[in-house]
Amino acid sequence: VPELNPEFSAELKKAITEGKALFGDQISEDYAHDELALAMAFPDVLVIAACADEIVDTVRLCNKYRVPLVVRGSGTGLCGAAVASGGLLLDLSGMNRVLELDEDNLCIRVEPGIMLMELTEYVESRGLFYPPDPGEKTATIAGNISTNAGGMRAVKYGVTRDYVRELEVVTGSGDRLTLGGRVAKNSSGYSLKDLIVGSEGTLAVILSATLKLLPLPTVIVSLLLPYDDIQSAIETVPKLMRSKCAPTAVEFFERSTLLYAEDYLGKKFPDSKSAAYLLLTFDGQSESEVEREYTEAAELCIDAGALDAFIIATEERRDAVWSARGAFLEAIKASAGGMDECDVVVPRAKVADFIVFSHEIERKLGIRLSSFGHAGDGNLHIYLCRDKMPDTEYREKLAEAFRLLYEKARELRGKVSGEHGIGLAKKDWFMLQEPAVSVGIMRSIKSAFDKNYILNPGKIFD
Ligand SMILES: Cc1cc2nc3c(=O)[nH]c(=O)nc-3n(C[C@H](O)[C@H](O)[C@H](O)COP(=O)(O)OP(=O)(O)OC[C@H]3O[C@@H](n4cnc5c(N)ncnc54)[C@H](O)[C@@H]3O)c2cc1C
Repeated sequence: VPELNPEFSAELKKAITEGKALFGDQISEDYAHDELALAMAFPDVLVIAACADEIVDTVRLCNKYRVPLVVRGSGTGLCGAAVASGGLLLDLSGMNRVLELDEDNLCIRVEPGIMLMELTEYVESRGLFYPPDPGEKTATIAGNISTNAGGMRAVKYGVTRDYVRELEVVTGSGDRLTLGGRVAKNSSGYSLKDLIVGSEGTLAVILSATLKLLPLPTVIVSLLLPYDDIQSAIETVPKLMRSKCAPTAVEFFERSTLLYAEDYLGKKFPDSKSAAYLLLTFDGQSESEVEREYTEAAELCIDAGALDAFIIATEERRDAVWSARGAFLEAIKASAGGMDECDVVVPRAKVADFIVFSHEIERKLGIRLSSFGHAGDGNLHIYLCRDKMPDTEYREKLAEAFRLLYEKARELRGKVSGEHGIGLAKKDWFMLQEPAVSVGIMRSIKSAFDKNYILNPGKIFD
């Protein structure tokens, strides 16, 4: 373990609740990786913060002694962004309180470490709705904000960024400030709050977040649409989006992915005979409106080649179907003996081209690519599975498959990451595709927030 400056360690111990600053081999291996565990590294010191003042003191000390600092929520990220190689790791998962519910302004202020499932339960039990719905419900809200998480309902409601009204932060340079405001509109200068969203802990540490809420929809119905092939399924999507159906979610998956989920969960899906599926959801406040939407969507899909349209109206069936959808990542992971992921986003009308291309790569390189994704917003999750391949062969095939996939995404005018972020895992691809001028501006923004480059150094770009 590299030596920390003893004065830094002594000051840190004074600033932090006793027993909550852990050094060297006191730090458990859980902190050495995130969910995909592609990057493995230990910090020199772990701080488990109890309150905003402790966070601010920690950041200021790290800035004073130039100690690199990585913030961590639940560590469920998928690209190594929350992994610290030396320096200080700041765990905020214990700071999970609701600070204020402002029903008149339809917003809620929370601590950074509240889990998405805790937030959802809190607001829904009061008839309110926080729409962003990324698959991992144990992730923290600050983790969601820092990766600008998307999820299933982005088609109708947008992504995390669209729900962040105000952020209280401490910058890497140690300034504590509030960005944005509890207002529905804001044309007052640069939106610094929006720079923090998606910045993966490289600009500031989020101390609290004020989020926009909506009234909770009372009627929710899903539609499961089997198809003979993935191309016909996905080619339906632009037609759906042009119609007046307004789906909340438009997910696609292939039979192979579904079978892994059935195996993984030990449960049968309502239908698993067809080659490909679309899974749609509709929500609203009136039965008649939702019924009009899903009926129109079912007709449209059947005209476009769907073999059937299963209406999933009861909460029990909906949970069964969506919990299978929610388990896809874990199910593929369990089947793969090692995997890496590609989370590209392409224009919605190009998703089918991208999937067909990924099948070509699968055949050409002899590597299994399992995919599913958010067809309604062009965001695909493609998992490159190791199976029983020897290490060197897997690494070579992985590199070539990634090269081809990211080149194709660029050709289709897509982006390297739709919702999981860049972190460490996708940094090289991001640097390759992002114009040098844009990266230069990002570096200047980083220096403005974090003049000594202490926050999450080496992540997103060099
Ligand atoms: C099974 C599974 C399914 C998923 N499905 C989806 C999906 O459908 N859609 C989607 O968008 N994403 C999805 N994700 C990714 C998910 O959104 C992220 O894992 C999550 O947002 C990270 O939250 P976390 O609390 O675990 O953050 P961590 O992994 O701990 O950290 C993630 C990033 O946030 C930064 N960070 C954390 N807290 C703070 C803070 N207080 N201030 C500043 N920076 C901070 C970290 O430094 C790091 O850069 C999925 C992940 C899994 C494992």
